[in-house]
Amino acid sequence: LNLWEELKFEVSICDRCRLSQNRTNPVLGEGNTKTLLMFVGEAPGKEEDENGRPFLGKAGQLLTKIFNSVQLEREEVYITNVVKCRPPRNRNPEEDELEACNRYLETQIALINPKLIVPVGAVASKYFLKEKMQDGISAVRGKIFDWDGGIKIIPIFHPSYLLRNTSTKEGSPKWLTWQDMQNIKEMYENLKEAD
Ligand code: SF4
Repeated sequence: LNLWEELKFEVSICDRCRLSQNRTNPVLGEGNTKTLLMFVGEAPGKEEDENGRPFLGKAGQLLTKIFNSVQLEREEVYITNVVKCRPPRNRNPEEDELEACNRYLETQIALINPKLIVPVGAVASKYFLKEKMQDGISAVRGKIFDWDGGIKIIPIFHPSYLLRNTSTKEGSPKWLTWQDMQNIKEMYENLKEAD
C-alpha cells in the first residue's frame, strides 16, 4: 500500500470519535495530491456521506461554480474537510472530534505539501487561525496569514453561507468571495510559475 492508500484504509475503519457511529462513508478528500493549493471545509454533509466524496451537495456545487468562475478546475486542487465523518443533522464538529480527526488532515497536508491553503468557512478557518479568529470569519476572509511550514492561509466564506445571502451587490458576501477567489487564483498562478 502507498501512503495514500494506507490513509484511506485507516480512515475507512476509524472509530476515534463518536462521528463514526452514524456515518455511511467517511470522506477523506479528493483531487490533485501534487497540487500547491488545498481547500479545507468543515465536514461532510448528507450527499457527501452517501457518496464518500467532498463538496457534492448544493454548497459543493456552488463551490465548483466559484472555482470555474476564476478558471480553476476541481481536479487541479485538493479538497477535504477538517473532520472526515458527517456530524448528525450537520451540526458543527465538536472540539474533541476535531482533535481526534486532525491527525488525518495533518497527514494530508504533509503528503501534499501545498503552498496555499484556503479554509472554507468559520470552522475550518478556526482550525488554522485559532485565536486570530476571535472576531469571526468576516474579519479574516481574504486576508493572507502565515502558517506552519511557510504555507499561506487565505480564508473564504463557506458556500452554504453564500446560499443564504444571494445578493451580488458590491460589498455583499458573494461579491467579496469573488474578489477573494480572484486573488487566490492569481496567487496560485504565481506560485505555479515560481515552483
Ligand atoms: S470524524 Fe475523524 S476521528 Fe472521527 S471517526 Fe471519522 S475519521 Fe475518525
